[in-house]
Amino acid sequence: MQQLTILGATGSIGVSTLDVVARHPDRFRVYALSGNSRIAELAEQCQRFNPSFAVVADADAAGQLRERLHSWGLKTEVLWGVEGLCQVSSAKAVDVVMAAIVGAAGLLPTLAAARAGKKVLLANKESLVMGGQLFMDTVQKSGAILLPIDSEHNAIFQCLPQGYDPAEKGGVRKILLTASGGPFRNIPLDDLSSVTPDQACAHPNWQMGRKISVDSATMMNKGLELIEACWLFGLSPDEIDVVIHPQSVIHSMVEYVDGSVLAQLGNPDMRTPIAHALAWPERIESGVASLDIIATARLDFGAPDLQRFPCLGLAMRAAKEGGSAPAVLNAANEVAVQGFLQGRLSFIDIARIVAETLEKHEVAELESLEHVQQVDTEAREVALKLIRSAH
Ligand code: NAD
Ligand code: MG
Repeated sequence: MQQLTILGATGSIGVSTLDVVARHPDRFRVYALSGNSRIAELAEQCQRFNPSFAVVADADAAGQLRERLHSWGLKTEVLWGVEGLCQVSSAKAVDVVMAAIVGAAGLLPTLAAARAGKKVLLANKESLVMGGQLFMDTVQKSGAILLPIDSEHNAIFQCLPQGYDPAEKGGVRKILLTASGGPFRNIPLDDLSSVTPDQACAHPNWQMGRKISVDSATMMNKGLELIEACWLFGLSPDEIDVVIHPQSVIHSMVEYVDGSVLAQLGNPDMRTPIAHALAWPERIESGVASLDIIATARLDFGAPDLQRFPCLGLAMRAAKEGGSAPAVLNAANEVAVQGFLQGRLSFIDIARIVAETLEKHEVAELESLEHVQQVDTEAREVALKLIRSAH
């Protein structure tokens, strides 16, 4: 029986994870669940899965949740804050940690799971973008097992040779990282300045949280994924090609030196990569319907348009610069996306804020966790100031 902590249980990935877990009560026991704001949903999840711990944002929320769980006669202990999150991701009893908090807030608890040598299922790509070297060094040292949940990286992992060693490359020539192109792949460029948050979050193929949905619309998501792939698979940005594939049926491909190209296909449903990583190296039912390849009928491919998607170009540049550049890119993007979702910025301003924040930053090597956090904080302040000065 695997004991599982789900960080970000109330989000899109968290809910899909619990859906898979519920299909396999013989394999997984939920040790802890965390949620930031949706206390009622978290309480219902606790009632259904009866975890030993639940973690919320602050003491107030903890009080509310405790009262509710107590009135239902549940024994779940309620913790709060980053300390609570780190406690449940590193506890001795835990085997597997699903890291599905969105954004930089996921860094410390995800790193705590890696440090404690857990099997870490990584959805929170931002933590790897911010502190890639630190994260990979931690995994190496502790012997943690890092399994990618991002559908593209999970696909790549499945297409790589078993026991792939980044130092040896295993005959890999390059990675083809597929992207749907999001909701604005074809709209007139002039219309981009007036699109609304709801339009940006209406992804044609995937149901996701609002931040990653906006990232998909700007294609910053693919940029973050490119950086994520470099760390996970020990590749340089030049060894990764971004390919537009609007159907989201091929989740990514690996090309080998002999000319073979391996692809992983499936319906766009995150329960597939989640079930893959939960059971790895075995295979289990995920609840995902069979891929109807005949109804799919065609698979299209194209090159990304960097004029339409300047965020992708910015991320590619930050990936090549390395050091602190990706952390700055990520921090400025989080602030700008939040500004857009709150109606304080237009869609095209997201790329401008990220570009200007990067311009003001002098790239340095990241020496420590404290350094990563300092760069993140400073970039957020710069981006916020840029947003304020625009009004
Ligand atoms: P979401 O917004 O639906 O859920 C985010 C979760 O994080 C929620 O449980 C929320 O309560 C929690 N959270 C938010 N802010 C927090 C904070 N400050 N402290 C603690 N917890 C906090 O997001 P999502 O779509 O589930 O995405 C989660 C992560 O997975 C992101 O990093 C995203 O890039 C990645 N991801 C998601 C998908 C997808 O299909 N949704 C696919 C690939 C990767
Ligand atoms: Mg993805």
